[in-house]
Amino acid sequence: EYDIPIKIVIQPFDYEIHEKKMIRAYEGDGTLVNSNEFNGMENRSTIKSITKKLEKMKMGEDTINYKLRDWLISRQRYWGCPIPIIYCDTCGIVPVPYEDLPVELPKDIKFAGKGNPLKTSVSFVKVQCPKCRKPAKRETDTMDTFVDSSWYFFRYCDPDEKKLPYRKDIADYWMNVDQYIGGVEHSVLHLLYARFFTKVARDLGLHSCDEPFQKLLTQGMINKAHPFCLECETFAKKAEMHDKKCKRCGTEYILKSVKMSKSLGNTVEPIGIMNKYGADAARFFILFGASPKSGLEWSDEGVDFAYKFIRNFFHLLREPIEKVRTKSSIRDELITYNLNKTIKMVTESYEKLAIRDVINHIILFFSDLTKYKDEGGLKEIFNECREKLTLLFHPIAPHTTEEIWEHLGKKGFISLANWPSYNDSLLTVENEFKWKLMGNTVDDINSIKLATKKDKLKHINIIIAASWKFKFYSLLIGLIEKSRDQGEIMKKIMQHYEFKTYAKFINQTTAKILKNIEGRIQA
Ligand SMILES: [Zn+2]
Ligand SMILES: [Zn+2]
Repeated sequence: EYDIPIKIVIQPFDYEIHEKKMIRAYEGDGTLVNSNEFNGMENRSTIKSITKKLEKMKMGEDTINYKLRDWLISRQRYWGCPIPIIYCDTCGIVPVPYEDLPVELPKDIKFAGKGNPLKTSVSFVKVQCPKCRKPAKRETDTMDTFVDSSWYFFRYCDPDEKKLPYRKDIADYWMNVDQYIGGVEHSVLHLLYARFFTKVARDLGLHSCDEPFQKLLTQGMINKAHPFCLECETFAKKAEMHDKKCKRCGTEYILKSVKMSKSLGNTVEPIGIMNKYGADAARFFILFGASPKSGLEWSDEGVDFAYKFIRNFFHLLREPIEKVRTKSSIRDELITYNLNKTIKMVTESYEKLAIRDVINHIILFFSDLTKYKDEGGLKEIFNECREKLTLLFHPIAPHTTEEIWEHLGKKGFISLANWPSYNDSLLTVENEFKWKLMGNTVDDINSIKLATKKDKLKHINIIIAASWKFKFYSLLIGLIEKSRDQGEIMKKIMQHYEFKTYAKFINQTTAKILKNIEGRIQA
């Protein structure tokens, strides 16, 4: 219209555009051209540098665009807060006086299935004008329920307050919410409105909280394998989900994971699972199979595993230990170490909402404790372990653990009991190394027993290298990284007095190792 010459500044990555052939502007990403020092750069990542230059040239500055649009909050529904407005033929639009608030929903309404039910309540609609006292009409639209969900968490802090939405000191004490959890469908509107309300109410002096939610977790969806046609690139419809082949093209279906939905008919009714396996198994499976963020892949085998684990857990912890030892052994030390480590890991994982990790730690310790019980142990140690393990598992299997708690002779509910603490002084690096080494040694012995087919051994001799050798090799590894000169290395090693007696061995070994390294480098 104004004959301004067209100048291309962004070229797409995979093809080229020309001014003359263009019928509309190219709005996608690409490489910058005709842009002086920014030529050849990727457009998105260059936004900041271009903004900086514009600021320097005093031609612009960066700003945040919230894309907030006007929000029409009125709805023609019964469920919602009444809008406190009265229409008078004489005075026009009159707000309901403060002392008459809140306007409550009437009960004498008829749900006819069409129109706004509030219009059917004469007692609600017919009012006196607050200004001129003449007959007037009440607004029958209600507010969008998003209005309520934008600040309900403040009311939760102070639900019994009669005169105010909530008291400031109480809201300031409890808010903000430590951990907010919601579906991805709320990630835009609800959270934006909630933040908006929080900030407006703060500016009005109703509280001092700046952000409503400290942390947010958006949970994933539940997926399940469903017949899919590769040819048509569609999932089988509900009526076709038991077919082997696609109705449209005859291609054999493959199974592909998809979000559970009523329209595909691939939903699993929780009530069916609960009837068959119990609510604890259903909950355990969902928590174990899903990481909260990425969602859950449904599998029937998974539910079965959860059911069996809960059953075994119940039996192991309910029954007292049969093989009771009276003398303490290294096994007691090991199980105590594992118990304390498990409490620490489980507690930390719960706090991070890494529920799958929680369950993995519990399963590991459960197998340790099974072994301890089978091999025989100290009664008080087994009892301590089963009490604390029951507590750790409680949030995941509340019914089962409550039942075990009663069997353990505990008074009161487990849900009201204190969370177990752990002894941090046991969880040292040395201890971790020690128990890992022992575990590896036991595994090695078992492998040797298996390989030699001698499963009934009376006696095992374990030959252990002298501790100075460990020190020598550690030192040598460090020195070799800096120098390959044998004389120099020997000089440094021999500065350590404790190696004097072993000089001959050290000299020979060092020579051998250096030769070995040379050989490898040449190869
Ligand atoms: Zn009036
Ligand atoms: Zn097909």
